[in-house]
Amino acid sequence: MTESVTDVSAIMHEVARQTFLSGTLYVVATPIGNVGDITLRSLHVLGLADAIACEDTRNTRNLLARYGLNKPLIAAHQHNERESADKLIARLQAGERIALVSDAGTPAVSDPGARIVNMVQAAGLPVVPLAGPSAAIAALSASGLINDRFQFVGFLPAKAGQRETVLQTLLSLPSTLVFYEAPHRIIDMVTALTSVFEPQREIVLARELSKLFEEIHRCPLQDAQAWLEADSNRQKGEFVVLLEGAPEERDARDAQTDRILAILLEECPVKQAATLAARLTGQKKNALYDRALELKAASAGDNRLA
Ligand code: SAM
Repeated sequence: MTESVTDVSAIMHEVARQTFLSGTLYVVATPIGNVGDITLRSLHVLGLADAIACEDTRNTRNLLARYGLNKPLIAAHQHNERESADKLIARLQAGERIALVSDAGTPAVSDPGARIVNMVQAAGLPVVPLAGPSAAIAALSASGLINDRFQFVGFLPAKAGQRETVLQTLLSLPSTLVFYEAPHRIIDMVTALTSVFEPQREIVLARELSKLFEEIHRCPLQDAQAWLEADSNRQKGEFVVLLEGAPEERDARDAQTDRILAILLEECPVKQAATLAARLTGQKKNALYDRALELKAASAGDNRLA
């Protein structure tokens, strides 16, 4: 067995020498499953904070105990965000450092916190983020989907009609779509995606990230439901679901041009097909000639294989 021992004490000392202003709200990301996924800076700030505002005091007490921390906790969940923001503002004005955490990952991302941050800023007090785990970003980073843009959707409405209405608004977006989903809804959700989006779009089901049964499965949307149903374990745990975006306008135009060329090539020689396609599409004849040659070679290859 290999043992990896890393001495982080020098970095901890360096962080301890950095400035963490008082009267400041620190928005601290915490692990999404693996206790090891917390940054040294976050640990330092949690240790420095006068109090920690959290979604569920029991959860946060347990998490802090894992790091040997015991701090006064303030309940700040979705049902009391406004009132807890008022309390936090009073304490910040008195010069305290307050850390804000959620149950898992980055606060205010499909989690409470946004209203508190908004009200603290409106009161003229500083807010500092401590970057760290986010299920959406973890899933995107290991998805293999190639797209610089993504649209974070989070949880879809539970009611089928409302869910479909939201999905319809996303149908033509070229960005990768990022959803969160609970295990008891994952089949319904994938069924809903299948009924709205093109069946050949790639889907990524990222389950239990950073945990023991972590699994990242990519397949065409049309195969996703069968994959989930093939093993009931695949429907367990927490999910991030990524869906490939709509084809770019350029891809759609290229596909249309290919269709035109393919039809013309059935009826006429390459040069004439390119000339006619140029008249039909307004594109350059030389480029269309080269593309027509490629299509013809590919279709000859297909015929040889057949
Ligand atoms: N604030 C969190 C973040 O930064 O990702 C998200 C909190 S949201 C209430 C919880 C949802 O995030 C879960 O239902 C699931 O969709 C997703 N999630 C959280 N942890 C996850 C994990 N370890 N693996 C996959 N998805 C996860």
